[in-house]
Amino acid sequence: MTLTPEQHAEIEEQRSLSQPTRRAVSPGMEERLYTAHPVLDHGLVRVIDYMGDDSAITQAARVSYGRGTKKVSDDRGLIRYLMRHWHSTPFEMCEVKFHVKLPVFVARQWIRHRTANVNEYSARYSILDREFYIPEPDKLAAQSTVNHQGRGAVLQGEEAARVLDILREDAMRSYDHYEDMLTPDAEAGKQGLARELARMNLPMNTYTQWYWKVDLHNLFHFLRLRADAHAQYEIRAYADTMCEIVKDWVPAAYEAFEDYRLGGVNLSGRAVEVLKRRLAGETVTAETSGMSKGEWREFEAVWG
Ligand SMILES: Cc1cc2nc3c(=O)[nH]c(=O)nc-3n(C[C@H](O)[C@H](O)[C@H](O)COP(=O)(O)OP(=O)(O)OC[C@H]3O[C@@H](n4cnc5c(N)ncnc54)[C@H](O)[C@@H]3O)c2cc1C
Repeated sequence: MTLTPEQHAEIEEQRSLSQPTRRAVSPGMEERLYTAHPVLDHGLVRVIDYMGDDSAITQAARVSYGRGTKKVSDDRGLIRYLMRHWHSTPFEMCEVKFHVKLPVFVARQWIRHRTANVNEYSARYSILDREFYIPEPDKLAAQSTVNHQGRGAVLQGEEAARVLDILREDAMRSYDHYEDMLTPDAEAGKQGLARELARMNLPMNTYTQWYWKVDLHNLFHFLRLRADAHAQYEIRAYADTMCEIVKDWVPAAYEAFEDYRLGGVNLSGRAVEVLKRRLAGETVTAETSGMSKGEWREFEAVWG
């Protein structure tokens, strides 16, 4: 995470101010507010604003006149019930606004989540910083042989060093050219290319930034997909950080999400049949399961 002293000072100043409010406040989220949480080499996630807490969910579910809070144990039970039965709209009553700094190729996956509000840093208006994502050596892996959309063994020795050199050199060269194209030089007869055009030379590991606002239901959907082992490591790193934040914001809702969504397993009808046959003592194989190779592999990964 690369923040300038001025940016640090702005964050600290914002964190030093507080005001009384009648609105619901989450103590865990108040602690997190505005703080920049580092992700990858130059990325960050920080909470800019939020609305609601665990009680906002139960309040909406009960359509209460007041806070809607009964005993904490009742609220926890109700939240678990809502999560278990996909009664999702009460979770939409909570909202959060993040500031995220992320490589462009991660942003491209992230933006597919349409149920959020986004405002991205304008590279037509501003000049992008010389900041590129360069993976840690242990994240530099070969193409997976079993998963077309994944990585396998970590690259070693000379190959790893060469790949890192290529990534760094290409990024620096592209940025040098970006700056060169942007810069006017009257003596050399250069007007300087428009920012909106010069940026097209930059690689996908360039960092961009945005404000991203989403409700808790859709945030859980995002986290379910992107904090999952099947998601690319780089977006997962952001999702994992956001999971920690959400855990502090709405502890009961996060606990239910972790249990039913992150920790839970979806079973197809065929998988249920296989489990029943196994419980009845039958030895079921990939061939007799009626599942495809991929389905069977995923089934065995969970059930052995
Ligand atoms: C591991 C992984 C691999 C992926 N690989 C690829 C890939 O190779 N290529 C690719 O293009 N994408 C890929 N994606 C992106 C994926 O297909 C989804 O676009 C992305 O995860 C966003 O999900 P979503 O549409 O459910 O989310 P959101 O856009 O937030 O939508 C949430 C929900 O709202 C509803 N919704 C939103 N908009 C509409 C709409 N217009 N019509 C109907 N219902 C709507 C749907 O129920 C949807 O599930 C991948 C995602 C993952 C997690």
